[in-house]
Amino acid sequence: MGQDIAGAAAKAFRLLNSPELRQPARGIPAERRSPSTTPQAPLDLGLVDYLDRHYDEVITHTRAMTDGNIPVPRQRDDVYEMCTEALGNADQAQRLQAQVMLERHRLEHAVRLGDVNVVCKEFCPGCGCLGLMWAPAAQRARCTNKRCRTPDGVASNWTLARLAAQKVHQTEKWRRNAT
Ligand SMILES: [Zn+2]
Repeated sequence: MGQDIAGAAAKAFRLLNSPELRQPARGIPAERRSPSTTPQAPLDLGLVDYLDRHYDEVITHTRAMTDGNIPVPRQRDDVYEMCTEALGNADQAQRLQAQVMLERHRLEHAVRLGDVNVVCKEFCPGCGCLGLMWAPAAQRARCTNKRCRTPDGVASNWTLARLAAQKVHQTEKWRRNAT
């Protein structure tokens, strides 16, 4: 499963890393831009920080799977391909951790790009149904199944990390049972 997921994560990372998104003031007439001490359009620092954090995380996992032996990627989104290649030689625990990370990145990048419907295609860890909706205020996926509740009686809700972990572990189980 690693390749498709990493490919989707890399594609979304490339989009997020594009100058248009990192410098949102571009395209706005100069007189409407906020004053800046540099001639460049201001960077979206939240997005830059987001990209740095995700890039560093992929590098860390890839290093762990290759004893630190990785080249510097030519383009930042190349780290996803490097990480996928490293999966083949990793031990099972490392591989699972990296796969969960890749799947979480795929979901996080999609949500960051505004494609919040990405969670609708995932099964709810509570009831197993396809009824998840993105709740922006909580930054969580909420289950719309009326019978799927937390012990407090509110709708079950899940972080993207939880959805990613469930998906990878379920897929591994099916894969093992199929062989
Ligand atoms: Zn549910």
